Amino acid sequence: MRLNGKTAIVTGAARGIGRAIAVAFAREGAQVVVCDRDEEAAKLTAEEIGSAALAVRADISVDEDVSGLVDQALARFGKIDILVNNAGIGATTLFLESSREEFERVVRINLTGTFLVSQAVARTMAEHKSGSIVNIASLSGQKGGVGRSAYGASKAGVELLNKVMAVELADHGINVNAIAPGPILTEVSRTMHTIETREAYHRLVPQRRYGEPEEIADAAVFLASEEARYITGHTLNVDGGFLAAGLLFP
Ligand code: NAD
Repeated sequence: MRLNGKTAIVTGAARGIGRAIAVAFAREGAQVVVCDRDEEAAKLTAEEIGSAALAVRADISVDEDVSGLVDQALARFGKIDILVNNAGIGATTLFLESSREEFERVVRINLTGTFLVSQAVARTMAEHKSGSIVNIASLSGQKGGVGRSAYGASKAGVELLNKVMAVELADHGINVNAIAPGPILTEVSRTMHTIETREAYHRLVPQRRYGEPEEIADAAVFLASEEARYITGHTLNVDGGFLAAGLLFP
Protein backbone atom coordinates (compact mmCIF):
# COMPACT_ATOMS: atom_id res chain seq x y z
CA MET A 1 0.00 0.00 0.00
CA ARG A 2 2.69 2.45 -1.07
CA LEU A 3 0.17 5.05 -2.30
CA ASN A 4 -2.32 4.72 0.54
CA GLY A 5 -4.63 7.73 0.86
CA LYS A 6 -3.25 9.44 -2.25
CA THR A 7 -5.35 10.64 -5.18
CA ALA A 8 -3.97 10.14 -8.68
CA ILE A 9 -5.01 11.27 -12.14
CA VAL A 10 -3.86 8.93 -14.90
CA THR A 11 -4.47 10.18 -18.44
CA GLY A 12 -5.10 7.73 -21.26
CA ALA A 13 -6.03 5.20 -18.59
CA ALA A 14 -8.78 3.39 -20.49
CA ARG A 15 -6.38 0.85 -21.96
CA GLY A 16 -2.77 -0.19 -22.41
CA ILE A 17 -0.05 1.22 -20.19
CA GLY A 18 -2.33 3.84 -18.58
CA ARG A 19 -4.84 1.18 -17.59
CA ALA A 20 -2.09 -0.94 -16.01
CA ILE A 21 -0.89 2.13 -14.07
CA ALA A 22 -4.43 2.93 -12.83
CA VAL A 23 -4.92 -0.69 -11.68
CA ALA A 24 -1.52 -0.77 -9.94
CA PHE A 25 -2.14 2.57 -8.19
CA ALA A 26 -5.50 1.35 -6.86
CA ARG A 27 -3.85 -1.87 -5.65
CA GLU A 28 -1.33 0.33 -3.77
CA GLY A 29 -4.17 2.16 -2.00
CA ALA A 30 -4.70 5.22 -4.22
CA GLN A 31 -7.95 6.70 -5.42
CA VAL A 32 -7.66 6.97 -9.17
CA VAL A 33 -9.16 9.30 -11.76
CA VAL A 34 -9.31 7.26 -14.96
CA CYS A 35 -9.06 9.97 -17.62
CA ASP A 36 -9.47 9.20 -21.30
CA ARG A 37 -11.05 10.71 -24.39
CA ASP A 38 -12.73 7.32 -24.92
CA GLU A 39 -15.51 7.64 -22.34
CA GLU A 40 -16.97 4.14 -22.61
CA ALA A 41 -13.61 2.43 -22.25
CA ALA A 42 -12.69 4.72 -19.33
CA LYS A 43 -15.92 3.79 -17.55
CA LEU A 44 -15.25 0.08 -18.05
CA THR A 45 -11.75 0.42 -16.58
CA ALA A 46 -13.06 2.46 -13.63
CA GLU A 47 -15.80 -0.12 -12.99
CA GLU A 48 -13.24 -2.90 -12.96
CA ILE A 49 -11.12 -1.00 -10.43
CA GLY A 50 -14.15 -0.35 -8.22
CA SER A 51 -15.22 2.41 -5.85
CA ALA A 52 -11.69 3.89 -5.63
CA ALA A 53 -11.92 4.96 -9.29
CA LEU A 54 -13.67 7.81 -11.09
CA ALA A 55 -13.93 7.86 -14.90
CA VAL A 56 -13.61 11.28 -16.53
CA ARG A 57 -13.89 11.91 -20.26
CA ALA A 58 -11.34 14.48 -21.33
CA ASP A 59 -9.18 15.22 -24.33
CA ILE A 60 -5.88 16.39 -22.83
CA SER A 61 -5.28 18.78 -25.74
CA VAL A 62 -8.49 20.76 -25.13
CA ASP A 63 -8.35 23.53 -22.48
CA GLU A 64 -11.96 23.19 -21.31
CA ASP A 65 -11.61 19.41 -20.98
CA VAL A 66 -8.46 19.84 -18.87
CA SER A 67 -10.10 22.30 -16.47
CA GLY A 68 -13.15 20.00 -16.30
CA LEU A 69 -10.86 17.07 -15.44
CA VAL A 70 -9.21 18.95 -12.57
CA ASP A 71 -12.57 20.28 -11.29
CA GLN A 72 -14.13 16.79 -11.26
CA ALA A 73 -11.10 15.26 -9.54
CA LEU A 74 -11.13 17.95 -6.83
CA ALA A 75 -14.92 17.75 -6.38
CA ARG A 76 -14.75 14.00 -5.78
CA PHE A 77 -11.46 13.58 -3.90
CA GLY A 78 -10.58 17.05 -2.49
CA LYS A 79 -6.96 17.14 -3.69
CA ILE A 80 -4.64 15.67 -6.31
CA ASP A 81 -1.37 14.11 -5.12
CA ILE A 82 -0.18 12.32 -8.26
CA LEU A 83 -0.47 12.96 -11.99
CA VAL A 84 0.61 10.50 -14.66
CA ASN A 85 0.76 12.03 -18.13
CA ASN A 86 0.34 8.86 -20.13
CA ALA A 87 -2.16 9.70 -22.89
CA GLY A 88 -0.44 9.82 -26.24
CA ILE A 89 -0.71 8.83 -29.86
CA GLY A 90 1.79 7.24 -32.22
CA ALA A 91 2.78 8.04 -35.80
CA THR A 92 5.08 6.20 -38.19
CA THR A 93 4.91 8.30 -41.36
CA LEU A 94 8.25 8.84 -43.11
CA PHE A 95 9.61 12.40 -42.83
CA LEU A 96 9.33 13.27 -46.53
CA GLU A 97 5.74 12.02 -46.59
CA SER A 98 4.59 13.64 -43.34
CA SER A 99 1.95 16.35 -43.41
CA ARG A 100 1.90 19.46 -41.28
CA GLU A 101 -1.53 18.36 -40.02
CA GLU A 102 -0.24 15.03 -38.69
CA PHE A 103 2.88 16.60 -37.17
CA GLU A 104 0.83 19.21 -35.33
CA ARG A 105 -1.77 16.66 -34.16
CA VAL A 106 0.91 14.44 -32.59
CA VAL A 107 2.69 17.38 -30.92
CA ARG A 108 -0.64 18.86 -29.76
CA ILE A 109 -1.60 15.69 -27.93
CA ASN A 110 1.73 14.28 -26.74
CA LEU A 111 3.51 17.51 -25.83
CA THR A 112 0.98 20.34 -25.54
CA GLY A 113 -1.46 18.00 -23.77
CA THR A 114 1.22 17.08 -21.23
CA PHE A 115 1.94 20.78 -20.68
CA LEU A 116 -1.73 21.69 -20.23
CA VAL A 117 -2.62 18.94 -17.75
CA SER A 118 0.64 19.36 -15.80
CA GLN A 119 0.15 23.10 -15.41
CA ALA A 120 -3.48 22.79 -14.30
CA VAL A 121 -2.69 20.03 -11.80
CA ALA A 122 0.59 21.54 -10.55
CA ARG A 123 -1.25 24.75 -9.63
CA THR A 124 -3.47 22.75 -7.26
CA MET A 125 -0.50 20.72 -5.93
CA ALA A 126 1.39 23.95 -5.22
CA GLU A 127 -1.44 25.00 -2.89
CA HIS A 128 -0.70 22.06 -0.58
CA LYS A 129 3.06 22.08 -1.30
CA SER A 130 3.33 18.46 -2.37
CA GLY A 131 2.82 16.27 -5.37
CA SER A 132 4.37 13.93 -7.83
CA ILE A 133 4.18 14.04 -11.63
CA VAL A 134 5.20 11.12 -13.83
CA ASN A 135 5.50 11.70 -17.57
CA ILE A 136 5.42 8.80 -20.00
CA ALA A 137 8.05 9.61 -22.62
CA SER A 138 9.62 7.11 -25.05
CA LEU A 139 12.98 5.86 -26.28
CA SER A 140 11.85 7.44 -29.57
CA GLY A 141 12.44 10.80 -27.88
CA GLN A 142 16.10 9.91 -27.31
CA LYS A 143 17.14 8.24 -30.57
CA GLY A 144 16.37 8.92 -34.19
CA GLY A 145 14.15 6.24 -35.65
CA VAL A 146 12.66 5.77 -39.10
CA GLY A 147 9.18 7.28 -39.27
CA ARG A 148 9.48 8.87 -35.84
CA SER A 149 9.79 12.58 -36.74
CA ALA A 150 6.51 13.75 -35.17
CA TYR A 151 6.35 11.15 -32.40
CA GLY A 152 10.06 11.35 -31.49
CA ALA A 153 10.08 15.16 -31.49
CA SER A 154 6.99 15.25 -29.28
CA LYS A 155 8.52 12.79 -26.79
CA ALA A 156 11.89 14.62 -26.77
CA GLY A 157 9.86 17.70 -25.88
CA VAL A 158 8.20 15.79 -23.04
CA GLU A 159 11.64 14.88 -21.63
CA LEU A 160 12.83 18.48 -21.70
CA LEU A 161 9.55 19.71 -20.20
CA ASN A 162 10.06 17.05 -17.52
CA LYS A 163 13.40 18.63 -16.54
CA VAL A 164 12.12 22.21 -16.54
CA MET A 165 9.06 21.31 -14.48
CA ALA A 166 11.27 19.42 -12.01
CA VAL A 167 13.48 22.48 -11.53
CA GLU A 168 10.68 25.06 -11.30
CA LEU A 169 8.30 22.98 -9.19
CA ALA A 170 10.88 21.81 -6.61
CA ASP A 171 10.18 24.92 -4.50
CA HIS A 172 6.52 23.92 -4.47
CA GLY A 173 7.23 20.45 -3.07
CA ILE A 174 6.44 18.72 -6.36
CA ASN A 175 8.75 16.15 -7.91
CA VAL A 176 8.63 15.38 -11.61
CA ASN A 177 10.07 12.35 -13.36
CA ALA A 178 9.66 10.52 -16.65
CA ILE A 179 9.59 6.93 -17.76
CA ALA A 180 10.86 6.07 -21.24
CA PRO A 181 9.40 2.70 -22.16
CA GLY A 182 10.99 0.46 -24.74
CA PRO A 183 8.66 -1.70 -26.87
CA ILE A 184 5.66 -2.64 -24.73
CA LEU A 185 2.88 -5.05 -25.66
CA THR A 186 -0.28 -2.97 -26.04
CA GLU A 187 -2.99 -2.68 -28.67
CA VAL A 188 -0.92 -0.02 -30.40
CA SER A 189 2.25 -2.05 -30.76
CA ARG A 190 0.24 -5.18 -31.62
CA THR A 191 -1.41 -3.38 -34.53
CA MET A 192 1.41 -1.02 -35.58
CA HIS A 193 4.38 -3.36 -35.49
CA THR A 194 4.84 -5.62 -38.47
CA ILE A 195 6.13 -9.17 -38.04
CA GLU A 196 9.56 -7.90 -39.17
CA THR A 197 9.51 -5.16 -36.50
CA ARG A 198 8.58 -7.67 -33.83
CA GLU A 199 11.35 -10.03 -34.90
CA ALA A 200 13.82 -7.13 -34.86
CA TYR A 201 12.84 -6.16 -31.29
CA HIS A 202 13.15 -9.77 -30.16
CA ARG A 203 16.66 -9.76 -31.63
CA LEU A 204 17.81 -6.30 -30.48
CA VAL A 205 16.36 -6.05 -26.97
CA PRO A 206 18.90 -7.79 -24.69
CA GLN A 207 16.07 -9.39 -22.69
CA ARG A 208 14.75 -10.72 -26.04
CA ARG A 209 11.13 -9.73 -25.47
CA TYR A 210 8.58 -6.94 -25.38
CA GLY A 211 7.80 -5.43 -22.00
CA GLU A 212 4.40 -5.77 -20.37
CA PRO A 213 2.27 -2.70 -19.43
CA GLU A 214 2.51 -3.88 -15.79
CA GLU A 215 6.29 -3.43 -15.91
CA ILE A 216 5.81 0.26 -16.72
CA ALA A 217 3.19 0.45 -13.96
CA ASP A 218 5.69 -0.93 -11.41
CA ALA A 219 8.11 1.88 -12.30
CA ALA A 220 5.31 4.47 -12.09
CA VAL A 221 4.31 3.25 -8.60
CA PHE A 222 7.92 3.68 -7.45
CA LEU A 223 8.32 7.19 -8.95
CA ALA A 224 4.95 8.31 -7.50
CA SER A 225 5.74 6.93 -4.04
CA GLU A 226 7.58 8.36 -1.05
CA GLU A 227 10.49 6.05 -1.89
CA ALA A 228 11.35 8.38 -4.80
CA ARG A 229 11.14 11.64 -2.80
CA TYR A 230 14.75 12.71 -3.57
CA ILE A 231 14.47 11.81 -7.27
CA THR A 232 13.37 14.60 -9.57
CA GLY A 233 14.06 15.56 -13.17
CA HIS A 234 15.03 11.98 -13.96
CA THR A 235 14.06 9.77 -16.90
CA LEU A 236 13.92 6.07 -16.11
CA ASN A 237 14.33 3.86 -19.17
CA VAL A 238 12.27 0.69 -18.80
CA ASP A 239 13.34 -1.15 -21.92
CA GLY A 240 14.89 -4.57 -21.26
CA GLY A 241 18.34 -3.07 -21.93
CA PHE A 242 17.47 -1.86 -25.45
CA LEU A 243 19.09 1.56 -25.15
CA ALA A 244 22.11 0.25 -23.24
CA ALA A 245 22.94 -2.17 -26.06
CA GLY A 246 23.34 0.50 -28.74
CA LEU A 247 25.45 -1.71 -30.96
CA LEU A 248 24.50 -4.93 -32.67
CA PHE A 249 25.19 -8.00 -30.58
CA PRO A 250 24.90 -11.70 -31.33
P1 NAD B 1 -2.80 2.96 -26.15
O1 NAD B 1 -3.20 3.52 -27.47
O2 NAD B 1 -3.00 1.51 -25.87
O3 NAD B 1 -3.51 3.82 -25.01
C1 NAD B 1 -3.50 5.22 -25.06
C2 NAD B 1 -4.77 5.76 -24.44
O4 NAD B 1 -4.69 7.18 -24.49
C3 NAD B 1 -6.04 5.35 -25.20
O5 NAD B 1 -7.00 4.84 -24.30
C4 NAD B 1 -6.50 6.64 -25.87
O6 NAD B 1 -7.92 6.74 -25.99
C5 NAD B 1 -5.94 7.69 -24.91
N1 NAD B 1 -5.73 8.99 -25.55
C6 NAD B 1 -5.13 9.24 -26.74
N2 NAD B 1 -5.18 10.55 -27.00
C7 NAD B 1 -5.83 11.15 -25.97
C8 NAD B 1 -6.19 12.48 -25.68
N3 NAD B 1 -5.92 13.49 -26.53
N4 NAD B 1 -6.83 12.74 -24.52
C9 NAD B 1 -7.13 11.74 -23.67
N5 NAD B 1 -6.83 10.45 -23.90
C10 NAD B 1 -6.18 10.15 -25.05
O7 NAD B 1 -1.24 3.36 -25.97
P2 NAD B 1 -0.10 2.72 -25.04
O8 NAD B 1 0.72 1.82 -25.89
O9 NAD B 1 -0.67 2.20 -23.76
O10 NAD B 1 0.78 4.03 -24.76
C11 NAD B 1 0.62 4.83 -23.60
C12 NAD B 1 1.76 5.85 -23.55
O11 NAD B 1 3.01 5.17 -23.55
C13 NAD B 1 1.78 6.80 -24.75
O12 NAD B 1 2.16 8.09 -24.32
C14 NAD B 1 2.84 6.20 -25.64
O13 NAD B 1 3.43 7.15 -26.48
C15 NAD B 1 3.83 5.67 -24.60
N6 NAD B 1 4.70 4.61 -25.09
C16 NAD B 1 4.20 3.42 -25.52
C17 NAD B 1 5.08 2.43 -26.00
C18 NAD B 1 4.58 1.07 -26.49
O14 NAD B 1 5.41 0.30 -27.00
N7 NAD B 1 3.33 0.74 -26.34
C19 NAD B 1 6.46 2.68 -26.01
C20 NAD B 1 6.93 3.91 -25.57
C21 NAD B 1 6.05 4.88 -25.10
